[in-house]
Amino acid sequence: MASLLTLEEAQERVLALARPLPAERVPVAEAAGRVTAEEVRARVDLPPFASSAMDGFAVRAADLPGTLQVSGESAAGRPFEGRLEPGSAIAISTGAVVPEGADAVVPVERVVKLANTVEISLAAEAGAHIRPCGGDVARGELVAAAGERLSPARLAAVAASGVAELPCRRRPRVAVLATGTELVAPGESLRAGQIYETNTLMLASMLAAAGAEVSSEPPAADDEAALRQVLERGLAADVLVTSGGVSVGEHDLVRAVERELGVEEVFWRVSIKPGKPVSFGVRGDTLVFGLPGNPVSALVGSELFVKPALRALQGLADPLPRFEPGQLGAGLRRNEERDEFVRARSRVDGTALVLEPIAGQESHMIVRSGAADALVHIPRGNGKLAAGSIVRWLRLDAA
Ligand code: AMP
Ligand code: MG
Repeated sequence: MASLLTLEEAQERVLALARPLPAERVPVAEAAGRVTAEEVRARVDLPPFASSAMDGFAVRAADLPGTLQVSGESAAGRPFEGRLEPGSAIAISTGAVVPEGADAVVPVERVVKLANTVEISLAAEAGAHIRPCGGDVARGELVAAAGERLSPARLAAVAASGVAELPCRRRPRVAVLATGTELVAPGESLRAGQIYETNTLMLASMLAAAGAEVSSEPPAADDEAALRQVLERGLAADVLVTSGGVSVGEHDLVRAVERELGVEEVFWRVSIKPGKPVSFGVRGDTLVFGLPGNPVSALVGSELFVKPALRALQGLADPLPRFEPGQLGAGLRRNEERDEFVRARSRVDGTALVLEPIAGQESHMIVRSGAADALVHIPRGNGKLAAGSIVRWLRLDAA
């Protein structure tokens, strides 16, 4: 038992072998959630011209206070053609070009409109309510670094900067395969000894949300010939993720068949709970994860090993899971040998984030775990963590 890898050692071995995939050019309309492969620089100034921040009147600050002749309009997308003459004002809308000669905008709420004139009783500073050209970003400046996920706002930033297409890392192609003779698809009736198969659905939805292009197959029986065939197909992907059949039972054949197919095992078994029998190997450029079949073990193994690998393949700078601090809602006994990952519900109590462990922490209890939104890390050690202890936790609904 002392020879088991720690979580950190195992994650290090995975990340050492998960190198960024090649880049491809992606139109912005299809780039949501993708990861930049190169830095993105602005092609234009933003705003591209001095523009109004308010609906109102463009004026010369030096003319205020005063009554000004309204000599035209600058609307968004329809600039005023010509100059603002001294003693006059141009009606202007938010986002419209500030006409030459104007150096301030007076909001419409602060003027008295008469037939062809506006009365402005207050002074204005030069530059008031004007968004300067390039005030958000200047042409040539950095908009996104390489290795950044295109969140909705970052995607908007890229588009606003005049970039229509950009190099992104190819999405990892992931094959998901459940193994176990007892597994049947939901919708069929259960015969003696059978259970409904859940891991394919769970892993496919989780890994797709993490940026993968997922393909899956019906579950495979614990049979060497059947496994050989489907595993060989799965090994054509960038990442093969199996569940089940990696423990020490007579019918746990996945690792042996993978070895026959040329997979070099990097590790088997890690000192975590649940999920200890997890395996990891490579064949060529394909990363091969063998998650244990118990659904909660597969969930935890996927969060701790597969998702970090997918982030690294996409070129993200910090591929490890992002743990946040929180406070335990109930005391928990620590495991002496293994780091434990406890499913919990998070709730906000004033300024504290409190984690309430769910009842039913066994690794087959996927229905209990279905109510959890947090995975709490209880480091191995002696004794108990008291209620109120500060712990690290991982959001279960995050990509
Ligand atoms: P194994 O890792 O193959 O020894 O499986 C451990 C436990 O998880 C057994 O009770 C299996 O029936 C169950 N199990 C394995 N694969 C799945 C799956 N895809 N969906 C639901 N339960 C599973
Ligand atoms: Mg099995």
